[in-house]
Amino acid sequence: MDAEALCPSDLGLILSYRCQCRCAHCIYNCGPDWRDWIAEHEITLALRSALNFGSPFQVHITGGEPFLRFDLLKRAVQVAARLGIPVYVETNAAWCVNERLTEQRFSELYREGLQAVLISCSPFHAAHVPLKRTLLAMRVASEVFGATRVMVYLPEWLKMISTFSIDRPVSLEEYTRTYGRAETAALFWRRYGLISGGRSGYRLGDLVAGHPPQYFSSAVCRYEILYAPHSHFDLYGNFIPGFCGGLSVGNWHDLPTLKDNFLAGRYSTLIRTLIEEGPYGLYCLACSQYGYAAREEGYVGKCHLCVDVRRHLVEKGDFDELKPAEFYDHI
Ligand code: SF4
Ligand code: SF4
Repeated sequence: MDAEALCPSDLGLILSYRCQCRCAHCIYNCGPDWRDWIAEHEITLALRSALNFGSPFQVHITGGEPFLRFDLLKRAVQVAARLGIPVYVETNAAWCVNERLTEQRFSELYREGLQAVLISCSPFHAAHVPLKRTLLAMRVASEVFGATRVMVYLPEWLKMISTFSIDRPVSLEEYTRTYGRAETAALFWRRYGLISGGRSGYRLGDLVAGHPPQYFSSAVCRYEILYAPHSHFDLYGNFIPGFCGGLSVGNWHDLPTLKDNFLAGRYSTLIRTLIEEGPYGLYCLACSQYGYAAREEGYVGKCHLCVDVRRHLVEKGDFDELKPAEFYDHI
């Protein structure tokens, strides 16, 4: 491992895992059942700690849905701007219920130093958020920030969702009824490019074929854990690498010590196993020492295998890396 490790160029600050939605594809298992929010002083600590990355990075304020606590979101933008960190926000646009509120909030954040907005758009979001709110967020954000500072992830879904409705949430069953299961599977898993961690393996996995654990035996996670360009700090102090929801490489409050430990090869068996042997290695460990048994229906991706094994380990072992623990309750 070298000094470039654990230095994302795009750091997400998770203010809360709370969200109005409970999307079927959410890799952090967010939803309305989560309660906690980051303490205001922790925002400053987190962003100051990130300055220890030692290489340029930007921060995105995220969740859950960060607009549910506009005061904390505004504070996070202020702190990032004061520290000179480029900052954007990620939103599901569910709060964009009218033009006045949407314009008021985007304008306020713009004045505080917010540089860009990322608006989520997918069938999974649209199952909770009427598309007209997404469209309103896009238009108003473009007026406030300029069109080049508004990113939609992913814009190609706008047209398809609008063929169902822009006025109401569109359930995922409407796609299978209209396109059939095979085409819906291709749309969701290939066209969207679902990551099989979080909920998607469980909630959307029945659309595609499952594989036995051995199928993933050559997949290791060195890049995702050590060198992911996109990682998160959460409200509980967890440094979540890559898109590995529910997996913490350590506490961001003391980033220099965390990085020193990794540089010196001092990290836990669980993290080492994932880096060197991937989720199949974790599966073997869980079978031999913790009584894990493979799912008969198999796994639709390596992260599905990983989350399912971790879900077992969080019950049977004492693993400091399996955080936040509530992640495993909200699949
Ligand atoms: S994907 Fe985004 S909008 Fe959906 S539940 Fe997760 S955080 Fe909320
Ligand atoms: S298999 Fe596990 S450790 Fe590897 S990328 Fe997926 S969630 Fe992360």
